[in-house]
Amino acid sequence: MNTKLDPWSSSEITDYSKLFEEFGISPFDNLLPEIPSPHMYMRRRVIFGHRDYEQIAEAMRTGAPFSVMDGFMPSGKVHLGHKMVMDQIIWHQQMGASAFVGIADREAFSVRGFSWQKCREIGVEEYILSLIALGFKPDGLIYFQSGCESVKDLAFELGVKVNFSELSAIYGFSGETNLSHMISVATQAADILQPQLEEFGGPKPVVVPVGPDQDPHLRLTRGLAGKMSMFRVEERENANGGKYLSVRGKGAPKEALKELKKRIPGKVKLYEEHLDVLQTPDYSFLERFVLQINQPEKRKYFMAQVQEITKFANEAKPPEFLEYEKYFVFRRIWKTTRKILEEVVAEVAAEFDGYAFIPPASTYHRFMSGLQGGKMSSSIPDSYIALTDNPKEGAKKVKKAKTGGCMTLEEQKKLGGKPDECSVFELMLFHLLEDDEELLEIRQECISGTRMCGSCKQLAAEKMYEFLKDHQEKRELAREHLEEYKIVYKK
Ligand code: SF4
Repeated sequence: MNTKLDPWSSSEITDYSKLFEEFGISPFDNLLPEIPSPHMYMRRRVIFGHRDYEQIAEAMRTGAPFSVMDGFMPSGKVHLGHKMVMDQIIWHQQMGASAFVGIADREAFSVRGFSWQKCREIGVEEYILSLIALGFKPDGLIYFQSGCESVKDLAFELGVKVNFSELSAIYGFSGETNLSHMISVATQAADILQPQLEEFGGPKPVVVPVGPDQDPHLRLTRGLAGKMSMFRVEERENANGGKYLSVRGKGAPKEALKELKKRIPGKVKLYEEHLDVLQTPDYSFLERFVLQINQPEKRKYFMAQVQEITKFANEAKPPEFLEYEKYFVFRRIWKTTRKILEEVVAEVAAEFDGYAFIPPASTYHRFMSGLQGGKMSSSIPDSYIALTDNPKEGAKKVKKAKTGGCMTLEEQKKLGGKPDECSVFELMLFHLLEDDEELLEIRQECISGTRMCGSCKQLAAEKMYEFLKDHQEKRELAREHLEEYKIVYKK
């Protein structure tokens, strides 16, 4: 049976590996060495998949501009599942991303029937206070969809490029689906593309950290990014199977095409299997590209890249120049050329009032299970811990949680426990233990039968009590500093 991903029902996904094949999500493991100081969710494989995260990893390494974007539908209590997303937004912000957080009140209005006032109250009281308490910095943008003119305008424009059949294929919409619900979908796509608007510094890689149920939004938005852009930079194949870069401008104004031709010096063809380019290195064409870029910061960044590649290739002379090194240099030229080309294209598009969106990247994290096993459900308070739960209540919930232990102590000593089926271990893995070694030790002790569930519950309950107490104090502090965040509300 095919996996169904639905952003509006809490789907439980038991076999994450299926998502790699069915939806083209890439495994995250291979990327780990490329990420400076990876987040604990990355190290612990809580984040298991991604789309195009390579560009984000590269931006983090090189200091190039990038953004993180996410949204929260104001639907009820803020809980540990939301904290997972907030942690990732904040981590990317700390790693240099400009951060955007949208409160999806248009979605709550259309799907849940909430009033704007209720959306505002839940949005601030639950989500925004916790986001700030967890460490979100005021240089990021927090906005309510209903108050954000640029998102609303962009959503309307995106609507031209998507029709009902498409929405029905992606989301299963039927003749019963109300129009506002469809508009809220276009609004979410606009949320994701907003960081690339000129007023926020223009095209750049944007990552959206999500659970796999939110992937339909990503698929729709990635498609729209291409459809909305004035030009497309594409890798194409020639008759010999080699790849080259091409720019297409279907529907672009003639003047824009003429301008682009002027700025792209000569034919830009880098054949993937054509390594002559390395034996007679001539990187002046890359330099000429770079000079077309209007933003001094970006020009500086690309020039440094070109100089580094040139130096590396010139110093590495055959025969010491090993095959893989040639390939390595070639890949870097290829990637750099593509990026520079995209920059030039983006500038021309902006001059002619067009877009040049880069399809957004995403990461996918595992869902937390309910404290009693099964799914977390907002209608069963004992299945989840809210960030506003009384700390004593929170600790009590941990003590009542389902473990992966055996029925009796004797059995557990003999057979060991199952940490991978234990919601107490999951709490420690996802939230309560920073130290990887301590966590591994607990896991080992559990499996070998030298650790009993009572000691885990005690430790996790104490940690939960401390976390909730501290978090709630920080929420009160956040309340005092709300003004500094220039939150965009509905007028
Ligand atoms: S010993 Fe700890 S990790 Fe193992 S099943 Fe019991 S509570 Fe879970």
